[in-house]
Amino acid sequence: MSADAAALIVCESLVRIYQTGPVEVQALQGLDLVVDKGEMVAVVGASGSGKSTLLSILAGVDAPTAGRARVEQWDLLAMSRADRVRYRRHTVGFVRQQTASNLIPYLTAQQMVDLPMTAARTPARERRQRSADLLEALGVGALAGRRPGELSGGQQMRVAIAVALANQPHVLLADEPTGELDTATSAEVFGALRDVNRDLGVTVVVVTHDPAVSGQVERTVSIRDGRTSSEVLRRTATADDGGTHVIAEEYAVMDRAGRIQVPRDYREALALTRRVRLALEPDHITIRSDS
Ligand code: ADP
Ligand code: MG
Repeated sequence: MSADAAALIVCESLVRIYQTGPVEVQALQGLDLVVDKGEMVAVVGASGSGKSTLLSILAGVDAPTAGRARVEQWDLLAMSRADRVRYRRHTVGFVRQQTASNLIPYLTAQQMVDLPMTAARTPARERRQRSADLLEALGVGALAGRRPGELSGGQQMRVAIAVALANQPHVLLADEPTGELDTATSAEVFGALRDVNRDLGVTVVVVTHDPAVSGQVERTVSIRDGRTSSEVLRRTATADDGGTHVIAEEYAVMDRAGRIQVPRDYREALALTRRVRLALEPDHITIRSDS
């Protein structure tokens, strides 16, 4: 079995084109992404780079134009309407970019977590137990009877995460869950996502523009112009004196066809333009300016 076959999420040359009248927007232009079971991955990138488009596709609310996208056994380009409903209900939990769009103003936190389980025909007893457990796990157990208007921004987000987890999905997708929060609250909410990942074993893909926040996950994927451009992997290393520190290494992403993007500052430093010289060495490849 190849590494990709074992992965939970695989996107390959993913393309999403939005057509509004005569105008065509290529939101995703051949994006590659592989996420393993149990991972927590942060997705970063400038506004308009395609982050929300990617998450909507993975959430099954939007469909790709071309390429490949698979989550568990589901092929996101070839799902029937009924499969899509099942997929959205059981396989993925989705926290949308605008906090308010995740919550219903006239329902209490407990009722909101209850709702997706009712749709899935979970027995009432089980629903009561699970919504209490989930709200507790997210640190808002005491607020179960409150409506969104009676909750702070951070509390609303925790409730939204609990709602997304109601039907025990294997994947949690969160689109800028800390975007509207101050630094301290945003660190708390991010901590809650890490707990969900570690304690419940849920695979988490979280979009964020906050470098402080993305610095806390083992893997950060950067999207630029609708394509994955680089990945940063972090690991904890032990120094000779016994102290531990985090090492972050940046990797370029190579697609199936062998294409990689050379960062702009590297290109400018060596005046690399259209044509470069590639040379294969025993254990590496060099890229040199043509001139
Ligand atoms: P991000 O979340 O990284 O800010 P988005 O995925 O929201 O980026 O958007 C990527 C690009 O696609 C942008 O240029 C945006 O204007 C465009 N776009 C997103 N959604 C739509 C839509 N429904 N119709 C037309 N264009 C869209
Ligand atoms: Mg967005």
